[in-house]
Parts: sequence; structure tokens; C-alpha cells
Amino acid sequence: MTTTAAQGFAEWYGRAPAGVWSAPGRVNLIGEHTDYNDGFVFPFAIDRRAVVALGDRDDRVIRVASSFSTETVTIHLDELSPEALSGWSAYPLGVAWALGRFGADLEHARGVDLYIASEVPIGAGLSSSAAIESAIALALDEHWGVGLDRATLAKVGQLAENRVVGAPTGIMDQAASLLAEADAGVFLDCRSLDADVIPLGFRADGLTLLVVDTRVEHAHASGGYAARRASCEAGARALGADSLRDVGSADLGRAAELLDDETFRRVRHVVTENQRVLDTVRTLREHGPGAIGPFLDASHVSMRDDFEISVPELDLAVTTAQANGAIGARMTGGGFGGSAIALMVDALVPVVTREVLAAFAERGYREPGIFAVQADQGARRDS
Ligand code: ADP
Ligand code: MG
Repeated sequence: MTTTAAQGFAEWYGRAPAGVWSAPGRVNLIGEHTDYNDGFVFPFAIDRRAVVALGDRDDRVIRVASSFSTETVTIHLDELSPEALSGWSAYPLGVAWALGRFGADLEHARGVDLYIASEVPIGAGLSSSAAIESAIALALDEHWGVGLDRATLAKVGQLAENRVVGAPTGIMDQAASLLAEADAGVFLDCRSLDADVIPLGFRADGLTLLVVDTRVEHAHASGGYAARRASCEAGARALGADSLRDVGSADLGRAAELLDDETFRRVRHVVTENQRVLDTVRTLREHGPGAIGPFLDASHVSMRDDFEISVPELDLAVTTAQANGAIGARMTGGGFGGSAIALMVDALVPVVTREVLAAFAERGYREPGIFAVQADQGARRDS
């Protein structure tokens, strides 16, 4: 991929890039829709990356191209604004704009040529968007000499996604992509942005994490995601809390009385999911990864029944993996499509793969993409 991005850059712009940066997609092990509620998440970066090749320019023009598209988008730095950006280039150019909001001197910065090549599947719940944002954020931060730390670069990516793309997503994806380390998960407190990098030990314990990409595409800029976020905010308000982070299991009785049934179930998901993240991290530390399955399973049930963000394809992937011996399984990412994950002993991978494919075929669902992922390093400069 590093070569692909550098080659793509050379073919597109007719010269070699000055540098190449990359950032991974992520799998969220547990902690869904908790990030924008100031709660806890526990994602890890995967061994699929977005790679960005960057070249200098003498003027103040930014050009961006991608292996994913046939267009080159060109914009003058003076014209960079959320209103001026749309489509796929809102992600990379949105980051350039957002860097300005975090202190980059865009009035004096030189332009750049950018070329993106990504191997993170799009709309699969593995955050191809944050992979691009994080790679671009790291590249431009270094190239323009801004000097922001990684937690701040995560906020830059989030601002681009919120204000420029228009998706009201939390900080999890960018934090995972920027803060992760190999063979480890990022236990993130989304309120303080304190991150603990915790060894997962899947490989050492002979475990594989399979991703089942249902190929049901989602888009967070529309519909369900924003509605869930609004419910959480309404629930917190009704309970007199700043955010659902401040609501605990002991408050659920009162919540059941105060809230309508739907809002109550949205709240209950977030409250119990925060606890499951804490339980997963503690169990992982004390008993190893083979013991975390029940929390993954319970998380799925909560997303399916209380938060209602699953779809039949995700449920089928989860139940089939569980029925064939997985340690635990759940949908991952924002929901309404995307991927499920299943943790299992290595020897079960062929069985679970075969049975999930068979179950999907039997229902007449589109053939899912099934692949193992490793917990990989976060964003970095490659060359
Ligand atoms: P995901 O779960 O993959 O993050 P999103 O809807 O949040 O799904 O982001 C997907 C969007 O990110 C794509 O529609 C596209 O605009 C952008 N994107 C992803 N990969 C690339 C790429 N290789 N080149 C350009 N844009 C990309
Ligand atoms: Mg995304």
C-alpha cells in the first residue's frame, strides 16, 4: 500500500512524493455509541490502512486524488471552508480546514498535492473515514510543522467529520487510528481522552478475531445514527445529567419512570455498555482474552433490542458464530449495516467461515466478506 500510494502519486502528479503516511481502520471490540455520551470505548487498530502520499507545491493550492475516484479535487487554501467542500474530498480537505481551527497557520501555509490509497473497506463499519482523516491529519501536521499531539489530531479528524462531512460521530474512530499500538486495544475515556493501551493477547492465546462484513452499507451522515444521538441527549437532559456518562445502573429505575420506553431503552444501552467496557478491560487484565466473550454477546443483545441499530444480516452473523463455538460475537461500529466481529480459537476459523457463508446463502443474503484482523500499529510516517 505504501508503494501503491507513492506510485499512484507519481502517476497522477508526474513526480515523486515528499513523504508517505498511513493510518489504520479500526474494529471496536466493545463500547458502541458510548463515545458521544462521554463514555468508554475499547477499539483496536486493524491491519488495513489508508495511505497518503504528499508532495510540496510552491503556491497555495491543495489538490487531492484517490485510488477510489477518477476526479482530482482542487481548492485554494483561501477558499477552504466547510461550505466549499463536499463528497469524498470533504474527509481529507475537511481535515486541512480543521487543522486551521486547531492552530495551523493556513493563511501562510503552502499548498500540497495529496494522493490516497486505502485498503480499509468503505462503509463496512471499520472506519475507512477515520483512517483517511488520521493519515491526512498526521501528514499535514508534520508537513506544515503544526506540532499537535495525537489526541488533538483525533479531535481535528472528528471536527472535519462533524462540521465538514456532516456526520455527528464521536471521537472513538480517530482516537483508535491515532493512538493504537500493535497487539493492543485502546481503552479510551471519551470525556478526558485519557487512553490506556492494553495488550489484547489474542495471538499468544491462539485466538482469532474474524470480521464478517455484511456488505450492508450504512451512512452516518443520515438518519439512524443522528436519531440515536438525539435520544441520548434527550435522555440525559430529562435525567438532569450533563451526559449519559453521569448516569449509572443505579439510576435506571428512576429513568424507567421518567422516560418514554424508547428513550429509556436507548439510555439503558449506553449505561450498560459503559459498564461492559469496564468489565471487559478488567476481565482481559485478570483472566485473558478467552474470558471476555459474555460481554461481547451481551453488547450485541443490547444493541439489537435496546438501541435497535442491528440488521438481520448482523444478527445472523453473530448467532451463527456463537452457535459454532465462538467465544463471543457482536456487531461493531455505528450499526445499520457494516460488520460483525467474532472471537474464536484459531482452529474454529474454517468452521465459522463456512457456516456463516452457508447461513447467508440460505437466507438469500448477499455473500459477506469474512476475514481475520490483527491488532496493528496506529498512524505513522511510512517513508
Ligand atoms: P466507514 O464506516 O467506512 O467509515 P463512512 O461512511 O464513515 O464509512 O466513510 C466512508 C466514506 O469515506 C466514503 O464514502 C468516502 O467518502 C470516504 N472514503 C473512504 N475511503 C476512501 C478512499 N480510499 N478515498 C477517498 N475517500 C474515501
Ligand atoms: Mg466512518
